[in-house]
Amino acid sequence: MTARRGRPPEPSGEPADPARGRSIRPTRGGVPEWLAATLNFCSRCGGPLTFGPLAGEDRERLACAACGFVAYVNPKLVVTALPVTEAGEVVLLRRGIPPAYGAWAQPGGFMEIDETVHAAAIRETFEETGLLIEPGEIVGIYTRPEAAVVVVAFEARIVGGTATVTPEALEIRTFAPPDIPWEEIAFTTSTWALRDWVRRVRPDLRPGD
Ligand SMILES: [Zn+2]
Repeated sequence: MTARRGRPPEPSGEPADPARGRSIRPTRGGVPEWLAATLNFCSRCGGPLTFGPLAGEDRERLACAACGFVAYVNPKLVVTALPVTEAGEVVLLRRGIPPAYGAWAQPGGFMEIDETVHAAAIRETFEETGLLIEPGEIVGIYTRPEAAVVVVAFEARIVGGTATVTPEALEIRTFAPPDIPWEEIAFTTSTWALRDWVRRVRPDLRPGD
């Protein structure tokens, strides 16, 4: 694979979920260009990785000719929560870090290798908002191939803590379903999760129609 410079796309960019009937822009084997640019050498032996057909594989793969290691490229899991107050309002934070600085999102982040999805939702929510939650039902699971992530969104009950602004959260506030600032939501997946949540709790509002 040739060395190419790239960076992750802004998550607030073009929506790309095949399940929603939108297009994706695949590069080699569907690996986003910014990610392909980071995959040049074998993590086992340091030899160059090359992209092409492999025996026993149903699609072209990145592999090391020197040692036979196959560098499978898979999405990462982003775990998020929609903390809901007793009054039925959802807690959002105004992002204090890029991407989407200043836009509203639910708390969440990349799952660590040694935790469960529930633990990840609790940890990320506490880190970003100071609130302790108990994750409940899954509102939705969303793919963003161009960002190489899968986002899971839990509905969550607030069980403790105190809303606290942090460098990651410039502002924390609650929104009743009719008041969600749809034009100021950070990420496509945040919009999808919030719409799916509003469709559950206030179907009469017909969000997204
Ligand atoms: Zn190797």
